[in-house]
Amino acid sequence: MKGDTKSPPGGGVKRERGLISLVGAGPGDPGLLTCRAVEVLERADVVLYDRLVDPAVLEYARQAERIYVGKRPEHHSMSQDEINALLVRRAAAGARVVRLKGGDPFVFGRGGEEALAAREAGVRFEVVPGITSALAAPAYAGVPVTHRELAAGVTVVTGHEDPEKLETQVDWARLAAAHETLVILMGMGRLAEITTMLTQHGRPSETPVAVIENGARASQRSLFATLQDVAERVREAGLSSPAVVVVGEVASLGETLAWVESRPLSGLRILVTRARAQAGELSRRLRAEGAEALEFPTIEIRPPAEYAPLDRALACLGEYAVVAFTSVNGVEAVLARLHEQFARDARAFAGCEIWAIGPKTAEALAAHGLRADFVPREYRAEALLAACKSVDLRGRRFLLPRADIARAALAEGLAERGAVVEQVDAYRTFAVGGAREAVLERLEAGTLDVVTFTSSSTVRNFVSQFSDEEVVRLRDAVVFASIGPITSETARELGVPPSIEASEYTLEGLVEALIAYHSGVPRD
Ligand code: SAH
Repeated sequence: MKGDTKSPPGGGVKRERGLISLVGAGPGDPGLLTCRAVEVLERADVVLYDRLVDPAVLEYARQAERIYVGKRPEHHSMSQDEINALLVRRAAAGARVVRLKGGDPFVFGRGGEEALAAREAGVRFEVVPGITSALAAPAYAGVPVTHRELAAGVTVVTGHEDPEKLETQVDWARLAAAHETLVILMGMGRLAEITTMLTQHGRPSETPVAVIENGARASQRSLFATLQDVAERVREAGLSSPAVVVVGEVASLGETLAWVESRPLSGLRILVTRARAQAGELSRRLRAEGAEALEFPTIEIRPPAEYAPLDRALACLGEYAVVAFTSVNGVEAVLARLHEQFARDARAFAGCEIWAIGPKTAEALAAHGLRADFVPREYRAEALLAACKSVDLRGRRFLLPRADIARAALAEGLAERGAVVEQVDAYRTFAVGGAREAVLERLEAGTLDVVTFTSSSTVRNFVSQFSDEEVVRLRDAVVFASIGPITSETARELGVPPSIEASEYTLEGLVEALIAYHSGVPRD
């Protein structure tokens, strides 16, 4: 390993850094991305991706330049040679280039060709394998590709080749004679020819076949048939690419083992409106329950307009009797500033009482080694005030680090009780545009069921991006879900009344409320 840290002959620092990573993105569910893929995406300078890559996966490479190199209807698509050349050119110039592909890069992903191009040009490359749709789509349809006594092996082939061609590489006659499971990718266009070939060469026409469209995605559909009728059944059901076709006795197990469709939020298409940095958590939870979560970041967290008031307060923390945190963002902003500007940590709060407005805020404090002295069970200012009803607040100095648009309820309530309250802006929230077209498109296509609001500012920012007429269309087409009564009130005022409201004002509570809604359980 000695030579590793040295520059290669003739290569400068930049050139040494240049690297092509051939990365598998898995079949769709962002949860099926590998940890290594996430690591590589987070460090990428450039990402070249194609059609089968889920937008949620690209979110990991937010800092990178993202280049779509997939096919597009009525547009010039980049040829493989052009893609190879682009990869090599950018990496040779010193960039960390990620070539991101659906599934695994070496399973019908042309990753081999790209690796060869890199080697030929003398550019470093690495491969990050992904979970191939050939295995994941059957698994998500409850089809084990091998199974004791049913199949002792599995063959993955492309169906894209013309089975009529003499020089065809796929030996359909041999495959027909085998007893192993056959997994066919890119086979939808020729399904009828393929199944005919297989039966003509001796596979029994009653052999079970499973077709899984959009495997491991929220929109997954699967169909169970036989070699004889699958082509017709697929036509009737309107299934199309991307889909995996599984031929063999194991295919029928899917009828018993189907599990994806029975998840609590299966089939529900949910828009998550939250600051980008935080959207991930809710989306992850929703996807884990089977929903399709679309991220619509309407707010972004940024530093306050000026740091001076916060800095002044942080410089003399010892003078406050209580520091009351009203959000996770407030906790993060204050501790980051303490660290960066004053080189101090949690010990700076020695002598102050610490209040948290709810369990999440208390958790964020705990992550920094701070135990909140006071946490109401309900996540709202009124609950905090009610909980400290019997405490004498007269003359006590309170510091409230908060967002520029925070509600005044807590500060006012404390002041009414005689407390000396100082509010400082610890961060600002910003509306982010751009995602509106995606929502309108979904609205048009009827592929959106629920919009979630996790704070009043997400409601305001969301609504501000649509015209009155569009808000009415939204209201007619989707259901709104809110994290709690304050958010609901704002939503009602702004013409997007929620019909789902969490009873525990947390992300978990919101997910629970959505599950109850989706299962049709009546709630009061
Ligand atoms: N490298 C990819 C395969 C690319 S070839 C992999 O390892 O998965 C493209 C074919 O993959 C499609 O025609 C389809 O057959 C299959 N495919 C990709 N993603 C799929 C998905 N989510 N569900 C079903 N089939 C998928």
